[in-house]
Amino acid sequence: MSTPEPEAVTVTLVRGDITRQSVDVIVNAANSSLLGGGGVDGAVHRRGGPEILAACRELRASRYGKGLPTGRAVATTAGRLDARWVVHTVGPVWSRGEDRSELLASCYRESLREAAELGARTVAFPAISTGIYGWPMDDGARIAVRTVLAEAVAPVEEVRFVLFDARAYAVFEEVLSAHG
Ligand code: ADP
Repeated sequence: MSTPEPEAVTVTLVRGDITRQSVDVIVNAANSSLLGGGGVDGAVHRRGGPEILAACRELRASRYGKGLPTGRAVATTAGRLDARWVVHTVGPVWSRGEDRSELLASCYRESLREAAELGARTVAFPAISTGIYGWPMDDGARIAVRTVLAEAVAPVEEVRFVLFDARAYAVFEEVLSAHG
């Protein structure tokens, strides 16, 4: 019996706006309403156009009547974005008193699973939960990198973290280099 080769996913870092990426999947740091918000979510709907919001409304009217639970992921059209799909995931709000790390890891894992099921080869992630939801960047980066390296499977070949500012980029760079 032959053992399958471990999947070699390439993790890359880019500084910039995730809505400007050309990839198969753009992951949106959504909120559970799926009906838009600030940060990445606002940018995705602004640049992606009304088709994405229409698809989200349909999800609210069908599978996700109560909203998308934290840690889960769901795909829609990417509208006018230069991508095939947007995968919406809901990060946990940072809490000092409660360890919600598993929910943050789940966002990356579920988004990757959705992307692989769709047949995506390239996936762009923002630093989920590190904006309005208040997660410390260094911890958020550690969870992101660790989970992606452990969970990315074929046909996903490249996972690109798109970091909005120089500090986020530097933190991800340090975490990634620590993983060799
Ligand atoms: P959350 O509500 O999950 O914290 P945010 O969208 O507020 O999500 O922020 C997540 C991270 O994405 C933050 O580090 C923020 O600086 C960054 N960010 C905001 N807008 C963009 C964008 N257009 N492209 C990439 N990253 C972005």
